[in-house]
Amino acid sequence: MKTLRSYLCGAWVEGNGVAQTLVNPATEEPLAEIAAAPVDWARAVTHARTRGGEALRALTFAERGQLVKAISKLIHGHRDELIALAIANGGNTRGDAKFDIDGAAGTLAAYGEVGIALGKTKFLVDGEAAQLTRSVRFVGQHIAVPRRGVAVHINAFNFPAWGMMEKAAVALLAGVPVITKPATSTALVAARMMELVVESKILPDGALSFVAGGVGDLLAQLDGQDVLAFTGSSDTGQMLRAQKNVVAQSVRVNVEADSLNAAVLGRDLDRESEGYSLFIADVLREMTQKTGQKCTAIRRVLVPESMLEAVREDLGERLSAIKVGDPAREDVGMGPVATKKQLEDVRAGIARLREEADSLIGGDGSVAEAIGVPKGKGFFVAPVLLQVRDAKSARRVHEHEVFGPVATIIPYSGDADEAIAQVARGGGSLVSSVYSDDRAFLGEMAFGLAAHNGRLFLGSSKLAGHAVGPGTVLPQLVHGGPGRAGGGEELGSLRGLAFYLQRTAVAGDKPILEALFHKKPEDAA
Ligand code: NAP
Repeated sequence: MKTLRSYLCGAWVEGNGVAQTLVNPATEEPLAEIAAAPVDWARAVTHARTRGGEALRALTFAERGQLVKAISKLIHGHRDELIALAIANGGNTRGDAKFDIDGAAGTLAAYGEVGIALGKTKFLVDGEAAQLTRSVRFVGQHIAVPRRGVAVHINAFNFPAWGMMEKAAVALLAGVPVITKPATSTALVAARMMELVVESKILPDGALSFVAGGVGDLLAQLDGQDVLAFTGSSDTGQMLRAQKNVVAQSVRVNVEADSLNAAVLGRDLDRESEGYSLFIADVLREMTQKTGQKCTAIRRVLVPESMLEAVREDLGERLSAIKVGDPAREDVGMGPVATKKQLEDVRAGIARLREEADSLIGGDGSVAEAIGVPKGKGFFVAPVLLQVRDAKSARRVHEHEVFGPVATIIPYSGDADEAIAQVARGGGSLVSSVYSDDRAFLGEMAFGLAAHNGRLFLGSSKLAGHAVGPGTVLPQLVHGGPGRAGGGEELGSLRGLAFYLQRTAVAGDKPILEALFHKKPEDAA
C-alpha cells in the first residue's frame, strides 16, 4: 500500500509514527497510509523562508505568473489521473471530481494571467500619492511588497485539489513560499499533485512544501512575517487562530469556516418561469454535488408560502430520482460522504434538524441499498429535504451546518425584510442567492443581505443558461464571509494578494517617491 510522504526542506520525508489509513469511502477498501514524520519544523520553516522566499522575491509578478500558469497546465495535463484518484479517495462522481480538479487548474490559470498583467514589477503601488501638508513636496504613497515569511495553508477534506491550489496560486504569485497541508482523509489527490510539481521542477527550491499528516509544532515556529490560511470547521479554525504563538507574534490569519448558505425564492416567480427553474436546478445541484460536502452548498431554502407546494413537489421528485452508490459507476448520481466520521456527523445533524423540522424526502438519510457496493459497505447517506415546523422559533436550521446532502425549507411571506432577517440568523454566510425578476425586490435583498454574506448571487429568468450557480467559487470574486463563515476573504483577483503582501505607507519628497514608485514597469527594481 502506498505511504504518502511529506516534502520539506527540498526532500521527501517518510513518516514513521502511527499510520492512518486512507480508504475508498464507497467500498471501504484501503488505498494509502499517512504516518507522522519526525520533522524539524523550525528547519522546514527556515528553508521555505530563505530558499523559497528569496527565489520568489527575485522574480517579477509576470515571471511568477508564468510559474503559476505552468502549474495549471501541469494539473490539466494529468486531469484524468487526478479525477480517478478523486473518485477513489473522495467518493466523488466523475462530475464532482472534475469540479475539483478543473477548479484547481482554472484558478491557477486565472492567477497566472493576473501576474502576467501586472508585468515586470516586484511591488505594487496602491492608489495615488497624497499631498500631506500645504507643501506640494511632502507626499505619501502606499506600496505593497511581499512579506518575508512563509504561508502555512491548512485545507479541508472536501476540495483536496482546488483548496490546495487556489491558496498556493495567490501566495506564490505574491512572492511568498507555501507550506501546505491537506486534510488527511482525502489527501491522495493533493499528494499526487505535489509529486507532479516536484517532478516538473517548475518551482524554485523551497517555494512549495507539503505536509502529509499532522503539523506538529509548526505554528509555534511562525513569526510576524508569516501568514496562516485555514479552511475547515469553525472549531478547528478558532483553535488555530487562538494558538499562543500565533497571537503573540501577530501572525496574519485567514479563516474560511462553515456556513449556512441560503437561497431565497421571490414570490413573483411562477412555476413556469425560467427563474423558478433556475432556482430548482441550483438547489438540487448544491444539495447533491460532492454529496453536499461543499462550504458553499445551499442549506436553507426560503420559499414563499404561496409556492411551498410546488417547490416541495419539484424538488422532491428530482431528489428522489437521484441514484446513490459507487461514484465510479456512470449511472450513479451521488456518491458517499468522505469518511465514517462524516457519515456519523451527518446522521447526527439530520437528527438535530428533525427536532424542529419534518423530513419531506429522505427520512433520516438511511440508504437501503447503495448501487454497485457490497451490502453494508460505504459511507452513504440519501439526500434529505426538510421543512421547519415553525419558521419563527426554529433555531437549529440557523445554527447547525450538516455537511452532507441536506437542506431545509423555511416558509416565509414573500416579504423582503422577513427574508433578510431569516438569512441574517445564520450568523454570517459565504454566499446567499435570491431568485426573482422583480428588480425592486432584488435591490432590497441585495442591500439587506450584503453585510451578512461574502458573496451574493442574483438569479433571474434571463440569467438562466448563462451563469454558474452560487456554489461555484470563482477566482475573480472574493470567497469568504463574516461571522460564522470565519470572517476571512480569499481570491477576488488582485484583492487576494493583499493577505500575502505588506502594505506600507511611505511619506517623503515628491520627486523621490515618484522616481522610486512610478517607474515604467520594465524599469522597476
Ligand atoms: P476540520 O476537521 O476542521 O479539518 C480541516 C483541516 O484542519 C484538516 O487539514 C485537518 O487535518 C486540520 N487540523 C485539524 N486539527 C488540527 C490541528 N490541531 N492542527 C493543525 N491542523 C489541524 O474540517 P474538515 O472536516 O476537513 O472540513 C469540513 C468543514 O470545512 C466544514 O465545516 C466546511 O463548511 C468547512 N469548509 C469551509 C470552506 C470555506 O471555504 N469556507 C471550504 C471547505 C470546507 P487532518 O485532516 O489531518 O485532521
